[in-house]
Amino acid sequence: MVRAENVHKSFGPLEVLKGVDLAVRPGEVSCVIGPSGSGKSTFLRCINHLEKINAGRIWVDGELVGYRERGGKLYEMREKEVAAQRRSIGMVFQRFNLFPHMTALENVMEAPLRVRRESRAEVRERATALLDRVGLASKIGNYPGQLSGGQQQRVAIARALAMRPKLMLFDEPTSALDPELVGEVLDVMKDLARDGMTMIVVTHEIGFAREVGDSLIFMDGGVVVESGAPDEVLGNPRHDRTRTFLSKVL
Ligand code: ATP
Ligand code: MG
Repeated sequence: MVRAENVHKSFGPLEVLKGVDLAVRPGEVSCVIGPSGSGKSTFLRCINHLEKINAGRIWVDGELVGYRERGGKLYEMREKEVAAQRRSIGMVFQRFNLFPHMTALENVMEAPLRVRRESRAEVRERATALLDRVGLASKIGNYPGQLSGGQQQRVAIARALAMRPKLMLFDEPTSALDPELVGEVLDVMKDLARDGMTMIVVTHEIGFAREVGDSLIFMDGGVVVESGAPDEVLGNPRHDRTRTFLSKVL
């Protein structure tokens, strides 16, 4: 479902990604851990072309992200095409990024309505079902300011799902939450994983990675230092850098 090959990304003179490879099969959950500044968020942002890569290739569902290939040459996609690609990739950030002047239901309905392939009634029905699925049936009329952080993050997940994504990217979805609210968001993510959603999850929740992840990737200094089954990487890390990092977070 996702393949990345030799992805390089620099910001000016700062080389942030130095050849990242990744493969995630349909229905798999891949968790990404690593120290601050190692390039985890940048890599996620490259997957949905919020950042342009300097070298390498990324495919989502067999389609090259951001580029068309013709005669061995790469051509940048037009913004419209990129937007269409991005719609099939859901993203949930650390900060909830809900529209404050819209209710939970309106937040979830916003993107599908903007794309306008469906009637308002259809969109409303799906949005209501999604909010029910994340346990917020009774809060559909609440504004973000009237919801806890955990509830807001669950609305953000429902909002991403409303576009029927093929892939969900999570960037530390629980790290801005009070500890007692983390579990309810992880439960929604577990439910999604069980349901077969392909997910890439940057997280500090090692327990989640162990329980739900099909693979675990340790990034440091803009490269994938180590990856494999979570139990292997966590229980028997092969690299010193992985061991040092794990000794700090476990
Ligand atoms: P954290 O765990 O703190 O979220 P991260 O692994 O997600 O860290 P990134 O956010 O990907 O790390 O950042 C990697 C490096 O790239 C950092 O040094 C950061 O300052 C730099 N960086 C990220 N975005 C930009 C940008 N838009 N312009 C310039 N530098 C950037
Ligand atoms: Mg980050």
